Amino acid sequence: MQLLKIKNYINGQYLEAQSEGEILNINPATNEPISIIPISSNADINQAVSAATAAFPAWKTMSHDARFRILNAIADQIESHAQQLAEAETNDTGKPLWLSKSIEIPRAASNFRFFATASMQFASESHYNPGQNINFTLRQALGVVACISPWNLPLYLFSWKIAPALAAGNCVVAKPSELSPTTAMLLGDLCTKAGLPPGVLNIVQGDGPTTGSALVSHPSIKAVSFTGGTATGKKISSILAPQFKKLSLELGGKNPCILFDDCDYEKTLNELVRLSFSNQGQICLCGSRIIIQSGIYDRLKKDFVKRVEQIKIGDPLDPDTRMGSVISEQHKQKVLSYIELARQEGGKILTGGTTHTPQGRCSQGHFILPTIIEGLSPSCRTNQEEIFGPVISLIPFDTMDQAIQIANESPYGLAATIWTQDLKKAHHLAEQINTGIVWINCWLVRDLRTPFGGMNQSGLGREGGWEAMKFFTESKNVCIQYS
Ligand code: NDP
Repeated sequence: MQLLKIKNYINGQYLEAQSEGEILNINPATNEPISIIPISSNADINQAVSAATAAFPAWKTMSHDARFRILNAIADQIESHAQQLAEAETNDTGKPLWLSKSIEIPRAASNFRFFATASMQFASESHYNPGQNINFTLRQALGVVACISPWNLPLYLFSWKIAPALAAGNCVVAKPSELSPTTAMLLGDLCTKAGLPPGVLNIVQGDGPTTGSALVSHPSIKAVSFTGGTATGKKISSILAPQFKKLSLELGGKNPCILFDDCDYEKTLNELVRLSFSNQGQICLCGSRIIIQSGIYDRLKKDFVKRVEQIKIGDPLDPDTRMGSVISEQHKQKVLSYIELARQEGGKILTGGTTHTPQGRCSQGHFILPTIIEGLSPSCRTNQEEIFGPVISLIPFDTMDQAIQIANESPYGLAATIWTQDLKKAHHLAEQINTGIVWINCWLVRDLRTPFGGMNQSGLGREGGWEAMKFFTESKNVCIQYS
C-alpha cells in the first residue's frame, strides 16, 4: 500500500520538509503504517516564521468584517469535509469514528465560528477621570505566535488555539503531535479554499524534541500556546521564561469526581461511565479519582462494574463500538505499567486490567479493557500520577471535609465533578476544590465563552472566550490629558 506523505503547509503551499528524518505514522487500532511524517528542522521553522512575518502587516490591519468572513469560511470548509476529517482522525488515533464525526470535527468547526464572531465583538476598556484625562486601552496583535497541541483530540485542540490567535490578528506557526498529523495537514488546504491569505497560518510537522523545540526557541515567536504533558510544559517554560515571552500552558490532570449519597443515582451512573472512559480515558478532563460517599459505595461499585463490562470495545469503524484503541504501543505499555503499579500498591482490580484482542482487522491493535481499581490509598502513586488511559480508582469517604481533602491531595488542578442534589453542598465544594473547572451534576458541558484551564501542575493561564483573545494580544494604555 502506498503510504501518504505528510507535508508542511507554509505560505499557503504544501512543501516537502527539509527534514531531519522521518517517522512512520501507525494506525493504533490495526498497528499498520498509514503515512510518513517528516521531522521538520530549523530550516523549515525559519521558512514558516518568515512566511508568517511577511503576512502579519496585512493580516493585523485587515477589517474585522473581512477577518470574520475568512474564519467563518474555514468553519464551513471543515463542516463540508467532515467525513474525510473524521476518518483521518480515527485512523491516526484509533478513536471510534462516530466520536470523531459527531463531536470532535464539529467542535473544530465551532472553534473557528466562535472566534470569527469574537474578532467582531472584541472590545477594550477606557478609564475616564472627569475634567482631567482619559485612558484607553489598545489591544494589539502580538505578531507571529506558536500553537502546539497533543494527539488526544487532534483537530479540536489544534483549532482551539489557532482560531483565537488568528481572530486577534496574529499570524501562526502551528505544530500538531507526530501521532496525529493528518487532519492538521488537511486543514491547510481548507484554509486556502476559505481564502486565508498565504503565510497567515503555517503548519509544520515533526516530533517534539526537534521540531517543537525549534519552534518555541525561535527568536521571532512572540508567544506560545501549548497543550500537552506537564513535563513538556516545564521544558517549554524554561526556554521561554528568560526571554519573557507570553506562555499559555494547558497540562495534565488527575481529576476528582465526588459522588454523594444524595446524588441522582441513575444519571450519575450513566455519566460516570462516560467521564471515566470516553476516548479511552484519554481526555485531560476525564475523571480518574472517583471519590464515593460510603452510603452508596457498594451499590455504585457493583452497578458501575456491570455497566463497564457491557462497553463494546474494538474496531473504531464499527458504529456500535464505544471504545477504540489507545494511541500507541508505547502508550499501551505505559498504561499497563500503571495497572501493575496499582497491584503492587495493594489495589484490587474490579474489572479490566488487561489488553483486549478484537477479531479481524484490529487483531494487532493496542486495546486495553476499561479498568476499575479499588483499595488504594489517596496518596499512592496510582492516585497521584496522570495515567491518561482507561483506568480509574474508586476511593470511599464519609464526610464532606474528607472528600475535599482527598480531592485536593494532588499536584494537579484541572477539573472536578460534584454529584449531589443538595446545591448548598455543591456550592461549598465548588469554592473549596482546587481546580480551574468544576462541573456540578454534569461533565464536559462546554460553553466556549468560559475560562478554560487548570491550577498548579495543570497549567498556567486560561483559554476560551475573552481569555484567549487577551492572551493573543498585548494591551497598551494610552492616556490623554485635556485639563
Ligand atoms: P506531550 O507533552 O508529549 O506533547 C504535546 C505536544 O508537544 C505534541 O505536539 C508534542 O510533539 C510537542 N512536544 C513534545 N516535546 C516538545 C518540546 N520539547 N518542545 C516543544 N514541543 C514539544 O503530550 P501528549 O501529546 O502525550 O498529550 C497528552 C498530555 O496532554 C496529557 O498530559 C494530557 O493531560 C495533556 N492534555 C491537556 C489538556 C488540557 O487542556 N489541560 C487537553 C488535552 C491533553 P510530539 O507529539 O510530536 O512529540
